[in-house]
Amino acid sequence: MTIAAALAEAQQVIGRFEARVLLRHVLRCDEAWLIAHGDDDLTAAPFAVFGALIARRAAGEPVAYLTGHRELYGREFVVTPAVLIPRPETELLVELALQRLPVGAPCRVLDLGAGSGCIGVTLATERPQAQVTLVDTSEAALEIARANAARWAPANATVLRSDWYTAIAAEHYDLIVSNPPYVADGDPHLAQGDLRFEPQSALVGGADGLDDIRRIVSGAPAHLVPGGWLLFEHGHDQAAACAQMLAAAGFQDITTAPDLAGIPRVSGGRWMRGFHARMPDA
Ligand code: GLN
Repeated sequence: MTIAAALAEAQQVIGRFEARVLLRHVLRCDEAWLIAHGDDDLTAAPFAVFGALIARRAAGEPVAYLTGHRELYGREFVVTPAVLIPRPETELLVELALQRLPVGAPCRVLDLGAGSGCIGVTLATERPQAQVTLVDTSEAALEIARANAARWAPANATVLRSDWYTAIAAEHYDLIVSNPPYVADGDPHLAQGDLRFEPQSALVGGADGLDDIRRIVSGAPAHLVPGGWLLFEHGHDQAAACAQMLAAAGFQDITTAPDLAGIPRVSGGRWMRGFHARMPDA
């Protein structure tokens, strides 16, 4: 069977785009090669591998787990079922974080619940002078985060095991970022699409989805320098609750930003206590 014929057959079962992604993965080629070699014979071994991947995709497995990687902010990250698959809306969190990080000056960043490490590693790569600490409570996730840190930011990204702030008791950061679990227990979305295959511990944040955000917000003041920012992703209906939490914890400049779909998706605030005392002529 030719490559073009195999693709045509695959497209009867899964989407055209996904079929091409999977065949490129099997053949370790790019799209240009695939187009140029449509008349080539797809030999037995890759044909069998391609067929098995199509069957798994048709059964619901996420494409990113089948290929073992996903792109965020222009870089490929290793992903396995031990970590959440990077999502486009997380680029909003990256953008907002980058806006608050100095260019060409040292700073310290903490990524809480780093998973694949895609947020913290991106920040470390975009800001070579930043020292970025990535923590997660899952050993299996840390292994993936370490691989991604080693590939993209070996000099300034550090990966360590911590249940939120437990292992970084005495440290202070200029910026804390997180894409925590924020889906409510029993949310019907958990039984649909990619979420069925992703780690529940990375998705579910208790009865109202806010358990982990509560811990992150309440613990942040003790780990931010005066003037430091906390920024985190949350669910489509959680912006008001998050802003309230930030205000109650004493944050200022509280902000919420919409993702590309217009849904309030990232909130945060600035920890100003002690800030003026640090100013040279205050
Ligand atoms: N945005 C994800 C979803 O609902 C959830 C990610 C998360 O819990 N951090 O598909």
